[in-house]
Amino acid sequence: MKNLVIFGAPGSGKGTQSDLLVAKYGFRHISTGDVLRAEIKQGTELGRTAQQFIDKGQLIPDELMIEILANVYDSLCPCEGVIFDGFPRTIPQAEALKKMLAERGTEVSAVLQLEVPEEMLTERLLNRGKTSGRADDNAETIRKRLEVYHSQTAPLAAWYTAEGKLHAIKGYGALEEINAALCGVIDNV
Ligand code: AMP
Repeated sequence: MKNLVIFGAPGSGKGTQSDLLVAKYGFRHISTGDVLRAEIKQGTELGRTAQQFIDKGQLIPDELMIEILANVYDSLCPCEGVIFDGFPRTIPQAEALKKMLAERGTEVSAVLQLEVPEEMLTERLLNRGKTSGRADDNAETIRKRLEVYHSQTAPLAAWYTAEGKLHAIKGYGALEEINAALCGVIDNV
């Protein structure tokens, strides 16, 4: 089974490309952002906790995220493959993912990094905000989310390079081209 991490800044196209990969390969898609938004919608206690962080553009604490992730993973797998979208976002989360998969006799197959210039990210997120209904797609929260990305999440690129797993892909231009580049990596792992 393939465990793929799709990695990149907010607005880099992780969700869009995950949908295309799910359609092509039949993988399961774990978007931690979607999981949290569903909890908020259902008004659960977890949703209420998550909302406080999401509204400020901050990350949910690692221990909580790791527990949620393991539960979702076990509810979907074993299966053909999984795309992790929005997880891991910190080095402790990456370490926890490695441990969780090792305990299940598997590992991260590849990390697909979507590289998109900073000014394009802001523009995409502001545009998405017009239709997404997401409270965190506003100028101030977007700025905060990008800051958090640079300080807490971007260091994962070096971490996964050291693990020999990172594949950088140009994340702008035609959707089909980006998708083809991703498939090129996936077909070879
Ligand atoms: P996303 O839909 O991936 O952009 O996530 C939206 C928000 O959910 C983020 O800004 C965080 O507040 C929270 N979130 C999603 N995934 C994680 C994660 N792996 N760790 C911590 N917070 C997360």
